[in-house]
Amino acid sequence: MTEADPLRLLAVHAHPDDESSKGAATMAKYVAEGVRVLVATCTGGERGSVLNPALDRPEVWERLPEIRRDEMARAREILGVEQEFLGFVDSGLPEGDPLPPLPEGCFALVPTEEAAAPLVELIRRFRPHVITTYDERGGYPHPDHIKTHEVSVHAFDAAGDPDRYPGLGQPWQPLKLYYHMSFSLPRLQALHGAILASGAESPYTEWLESWDPERDMSHRVTTKVPCAEYFAVRDAALIAHATQIDPTGRWFACPLEVQQRVWPTEDYELARSVVDSAVPEDDLFTGVRSEVGVR
Ligand SMILES: [Zn+2]
Repeated sequence: MTEADPLRLLAVHAHPDDESSKGAATMAKYVAEGVRVLVATCTGGERGSVLNPALDRPEVWERLPEIRRDEMARAREILGVEQEFLGFVDSGLPEGDPLPPLPEGCFALVPTEEAAAPLVELIRRFRPHVITTYDERGGYPHPDHIKTHEVSVHAFDAAGDPDRYPGLGQPWQPLKLYYHMSFSLPRLQALHGAILASGAESPYTEWLESWDPERDMSHRVTTKVPCAEYFAVRDAALIAHATQIDPTGRWFACPLEVQQRVWPTEDYELARSVVDSAVPEDDLFTGVRSEVGVR
């Protein structure tokens, strides 16, 4: 890999903290290998909640957008990545029956052609070889996650086309597009089984009971990236988003050693590729390294 033109990975996320819970160990691994990694965060997470009981205080709620920027900066340092906000406003997670309308001006309501423009500009400037994003269901049904999927696919297809988005930089065609697939039923079952086998109580019993097998997408996994040695980095980055995560909660309930032994990968679906890459694969840059002449 030459320093002049290293491999580049762009991870598109909805809110600050999503980069630390989805694909974080993969990013840390590639950073360690000399890949340039950029996180694009679509919104500022302005409508998020305080999910850590220890920080659920009025003065924290008042300054939440600012605090979340500081948390993002800390997570960015821990992961060793670059990071940019795309400037959209969090849509919030609508709750109730019937669901309330989305707030005016929020990210999810911006037409996709318009909402993809800042990402097209970023792709043409950063020139990523590989992009990661969410699947068409958003990974989980938050309107900003679904919108993040839509703008990522749209920008992947448009960034290399000189006729689209003129004035936003020189066309650049990324080579591969992936969807995160890490939260699968087989993984949860494997962790659950290993915890029970060790004689401990599983934190996943209720979660497994409420899991809708229809929604499981593990059959779509094409790519398993070994990154167990970076799981601790992932956890440290996640804990840096202190308002968003309860350090005593379910996220950290499974011992690291069990995760590293039982499920040492982060998993993806290869959704688009303009290079030859036979699946299954264990590297997001399979087929890219030979194409761009780096090892
Ligand atoms: Zn999110």
